[in-house]
Amino acid sequence: MNYMIHLNKRIIVSGFMPEATVIFTLCESCGEETPHRVLRGKMGATPESGFEGTVQCVTCKTIHSAHIPMEKPVSIHSVISNGELSERKNIEFGPLEEVRVGEEFFWEDHNLQITSIEIGGKRVNISKAREISGLWLKIFDTVSVKVSIVRGPNTKSEKVEAAPDEEFAVGDMLEFGKDKVVIDKIKTTRRMVYREGSTIEAREITRVYAKLIKERTY
Ligand SMILES: [Zn+2]
Repeated sequence: MNYMIHLNKRIIVSGFMPEATVIFTLCESCGEETPHRVLRGKMGATPESGFEGTVQCVTCKTIHSAHIPMEKPVSIHSVISNGELSERKNIEFGPLEEVRVGEEFFWEDHNLQITSIEIGGKRVNISKAREISGLWLKIFDTVSVKVSIVRGPNTKSEKVEAAPDEEFAVGDMLEFGKDKVVIDKIKTTRRMVYREGSTIEAREITRVYAKLIKERTY
């Protein structure tokens, strides 16, 4: 089991506290937070009870006992969008965890990407979790786009892995090994797209139809 202690720095401790683990905590002799070597100690019975043990200040060598409580996770109001649909959820983070726009993480069966962070009405790119008043995310699972390649009288099936918002257009080139193909038409859940240049997001595509381009040798 992995426990995390949230201090100035996040230290990840797996299962037990090995000797020589260094934690940051207040040293009364130094009067500030300093690195401490763990002489003995253990994680409490529950993850919330944190760390208890004997530590030695690296700076002044004073030995004292330390009890470092775990900080409770914070629950952040979040809006998760999936294409045109969106859903409100609460997502838990460690209070001091750094949250950034663009970051991806796996949560409840989906890969999510953070698109926006709000702190008291202001949009920011990065924040500690405990300061965040609202979070916007999108479902960012890769999708498998089916491609039918017409080669004379035969049709071959291939697949392309793409981000859900990756755009495909008639006229785009794709490569499968040595084969270069050009997209001829795109079938979506609602229609067939023939027009060159109109882009379709991968999540909407049912199948891409492509033609093999004859390789020229010069
Ligand atoms: Zn000290």
